[in-house]
Amino acid sequence: MTLNIAIDGPSGAGKSTIAKYIAKTMNIAYLDTGAMYRGLAYYALQNGIQPDDRDKVVPFLETVDMDIKYSENGQKVIVNDLDVTPYIREHHISMAASTISKIHEVRLKMCALQRIIASKTDCVLDGRDIGSYVLPDANVKIYMDASPEVRAERRKKDLEGKGDFSHTFEEILADIKARDYQDMNRDFAPLKVADGAVVIDTSYMTIEEVANKVKEICKGK
Ligand code: C5P
Repeated sequence: MTLNIAIDGPSGAGKSTIAKYIAKTMNIAYLDTGAMYRGLAYYALQNGIQPDDRDKVVPFLETVDMDIKYSENGQKVIVNDLDVTPYIREHHISMAASTISKIHEVRLKMCALQRIIASKTDCVLDGRDIGSYVLPDANVKIYMDASPEVRAERRKKDLEGKGDFSHTFEEILADIKARDYQDMNRDFAPLKVADGAVVIDTSYMTIEEVANKVKEICKGK
């Protein structure tokens, strides 16, 4: 049996920062499952396929081979031998990933890969449906949340840190709310608090405070 720590929640709640920290301190792997949906959305767009075009996405999926690799710089998403990692953080890919992830067949394929990785490797996974659907028996389940305004502010700082100053706070807030709505209201494996998950509202917590809280939860298990 491997050790699996599931961290779910909406974008900007601080999941990836905490997941990376926990992975490092516990010396286990970190699987960023959002990067898989991002990689697929990017690859579809590159091939002229719109993420909401189910009729084209489903047969296209058959031609897609996804692999997750680890390097000194962290996780790499490889799609049909192409390393798409450098391109998947762009702002427009966030919504494209959310849209393509609504397609049932897409989720089945990504979840199967996530389960294989989790069954072979001790890891912390962050995503939307890890504790509720992918790994309902995960050793630890956490749901991290924060107000949309706080998350939009964090996202703006992230983008600016990467040199992207082209989005206003209001635009980012509207995108976050639209993505939350889409992620929480899809038919299959929507974003929700999993049974047995501990909810942490990170709105007014420092990274250190959240990390300590998560460590406490892990120790208690
Ligand atoms: O976490 P991140 O913001 O990179 O995820 C991008 C999108 O991928 C999310 O908005 C969500 O729609 C989708 N996703 C998902 N299930 C996951 C991880 C991400 O549906 N486990």
